[in-house]
Amino acid sequence: MSGPGFVVAAALGLIAVTLAVPVPIALARATWPTRAPARALLLWQVIALAGGFSMIGALLAAGLALMPIAVVPGGIVVGAAIALTGYLLGHLAATVTVVVRSRQRHQELLWLLTSPHPTRAETLVLEDSVPLAYCVPRGWHSLTVLSRGLLDRLSSEELSAVIAHERAHLDQRHDILLVAFRAWHSALPWFPIAARAAEEVDVLVELLADDSARRVVSDRALAHAIAAVARVEPDGAPRTVRHPATARSRDRLLRLAA
Ligand SMILES: [Zn+2]
Repeated sequence: MSGPGFVVAAALGLIAVTLAVPVPIALARATWPTRAPARALLLWQVIALAGGFSMIGALLAAGLALMPIAVVPGGIVVGAAIALTGYLLGHLAATVTVVVRSRQRHQELLWLLTSPHPTRAETLVLEDSVPLAYCVPRGWHSLTVLSRGLLDRLSSEELSAVIAHERAHLDQRHDILLVAFRAWHSALPWFPIAARAAEEVDVLVELLADDSARRVVSDRALAHAIAAVARVEPDGAPRTVRHPATARSRDRLLRLAA
C-alpha cells in the first residue's frame, strides 16, 4: 500500500503516538511548569487537542486512502474515526451535563446553608468551623464561599489572599479547563496519560491562582492561608467531598518558600 493518503495517515499517526506518550511524560516530569504555570497549561491544552485531532485524522486519512483499494476495510476505518469523534464529544457533553447538574444541586444547598457576607459582594458564609474556601462558577454572578472557621482563623491579609486566589479561578475560567480534562480522562480511563494530564492541570490552575494572589498579598500571607485551608482545598468546580492535605498544597507551599 502506498500513496499520499497513507503517507499523511502515517505522519498523523506518528504525531498522535508522540503526543500520547513521550511528550506528556516529559512535560509531567519537568520542573519548569511550577515556574511558568500559564505556559505549561497552554502546552497541556495543545497536547490534548493536537493529540486528539491527529489520532482521528490518522484514522480518517488511512480509511480514505484504503477505500479505492478495499472499500469495506476502508469504510470500517473511516467509521472508526467518526465513532471515536462521537465518543469523545459525547463524553464531553455528558461530563458537562453532570457538572452543571451537580453545580445546581450545590447552589440549592448553599442557599439553605449559607448567609451573605456582610461586606463582600457575591460572597457567602458557611457556618462551619472547618476552614474552607471555594468558588462556584455562575457566569457573571459567580460565588465565593468562605466558612466561619476560615474567617475566624485568618488575618485580613490572609483572607485577601484566599479571596484573590478564588477570584482568579473564576476570572480565568479554570472550571472549563478542569471539566475538559476530566472528560478526556473519563473517556479514556485506561489511558494513563489522560489521568496524569488531569492531575497536572489540577495543580497548574492552583499555581496560577496563587500567582494572581501574590500580586495583591505577600507570599507569607498566602502561605499561611494555604496552610490553613490545606485540609479542604476545593477548586473551580464545586465539590462536596472534603479531602485531606495533598501533595498539591505541599507543592504550593514549597514554591512560595523558594
Ligand atoms: Zn484553588
